[in-house]
Amino acid sequence: MSDRPVIVWFRQDLRLSDHPALRAAAETGRPIVPLYVLDETEAGERTPGGASKWYLHGSLAKLAASLRRRHGGLVLRRGPVAETVARLVQEIGAEAIFLTRAYTPGGIADETALAKQLDVKRYGGALLWEPEAVETKDGGPYKVFTPFHRACQAQREPAAPKPAPENLTLISAPGDDLDDWGLLPTRPDWAGGLRESWTPGEAGAQARLAAFADCAVADYADGHDRPDVDGTSRLSPALHFGEISPRQAWHAVGDHRGGAAFRRELVWREFCAHLLFHFPDLPTQPFKADFADFPWRVDEAALLAWQRGQTGYPLVDAGMRQLWETGWMHNRVRMVVASFLVKHLLIGWWHGEAWFWDTLVDADLANNVGGWQWVAGCGADAAPYFRIFNPILQGQKFDPDGAYVRRWVPALRDIPDAHVHEPWKAGGAAPIVDHAAARQRALAALKATNRG
Ligand code: FAD
Repeated sequence: MSDRPVIVWFRQDLRLSDHPALRAAAETGRPIVPLYVLDETEAGERTPGGASKWYLHGSLAKLAASLRRRHGGLVLRRGPVAETVARLVQEIGAEAIFLTRAYTPGGIADETALAKQLDVKRYGGALLWEPEAVETKDGGPYKVFTPFHRACQAQREPAAPKPAPENLTLISAPGDDLDDWGLLPTRPDWAGGLRESWTPGEAGAQARLAAFADCAVADYADGHDRPDVDGTSRLSPALHFGEISPRQAWHAVGDHRGGAAFRRELVWREFCAHLLFHFPDLPTQPFKADFADFPWRVDEAALLAWQRGQTGYPLVDAGMRQLWETGWMHNRVRMVVASFLVKHLLIGWWHGEAWFWDTLVDADLANNVGGWQWVAGCGADAAPYFRIFNPILQGQKFDPDGAYVRRWVPALRDIPDAHVHEPWKAGGAAPIVDHAAARQRALAALKATNRG
């Protein structure tokens, strides 16, 4: 048997445990060169935004450290994927490349380009079920969540996760220094809130999952819609970067109380990946073609007020400030702020998607585009066009004492509870748009678009 090395190309699977591609590479008995490629060109995956780059730096540093403990290292290379990998293959005489398959258009394009020049071994691991396995009776993709969820429930239970391979023979090759990639902000260093909020890396993600499964999941079914309680897992960046596998998340909650509700959210993640896989134009095109000529407004001042959390609506402003400060926002609040941008302000959803892309540590093409198109009403299984979240009522329902908005908008601290979601009633400034008027304007525009 040849002892030519193989490459394990790490992408959004920055872990050693429950990693089918790594395990398969280890089982060949060949020396392994672990590789990560930063491709900031237009080709391939969309380049991560600022907050994601910060997270990525931490996660790569931890993966490299884990590999060093196993007497190896992580080879870092920068450039277009196909050329960069081909060069490494030549340098080390690699026989094959092992990878976790991607479902995004860019990720798939990278795999296709590589397969033209190399023996590419592709493995699952990023999803609970492969998108091809979950099909409608006619053999097509699902476009509605509930039947998709049902179809997933009829699938085989996801296999139990496996530990990291015991025997890894790692070898190295020249590569970049992580610090030279400039993934961390310097001037200015805006990442203080991110450092306080997150521990990137596999060990941190596993600890978060274990803590959630031990305790918070029990209240998940009742509490996960409340931004004022710490009721969700906050595993989204760990799942996006693959520091944990979805199977690990699925099995960790087992039959715990709240486990079924949590698993349902994992299936939403599957659904978003399924949609993007089958409809690769989603990042740029509305799923519902009617929306192509929607009369979106251009309003720089309103967009800026939204980005900065200065709309005058406490729940919207609190969410946008939580996002800026910590790189994360509660799901309920994501829905409200997104609805506010596209419906109250009539600003195109892609502006919001781009802002989220740059500021979220969990920015994920499938989930972000899926979330935005869903809220805008132009996505698959989207919210009906006449559902326009009322930011005041949403605040009163999901943050009844105002604890969440007071935390992120300090000016609200002394406002009586009764007015905390309508501070203008207690002498505060009027919001940038009046809810009732904005609602009427949105309904008129949306009704004209939703002719069918
Ligand atoms: P939990 O409630 O603990 O859920 C567990 C996991 O399930 C999450 O980590 C996530 O992987 C998955 N999940 C939960 N809800 C959803 C959902 N609605 N759609 C898809 N997957 C879901 N999620 C991202 O991971 N990245 C994004 O870029 C992103 N952008 C969004 C944009 C908008 C406009 C909206 C409405 C939602 C977006 N979401 C996104 C989905 C959701 O808000 C986050 O996944 C969730 O808030 C993450 O917090 P958590 O890990 O505590 O979630």
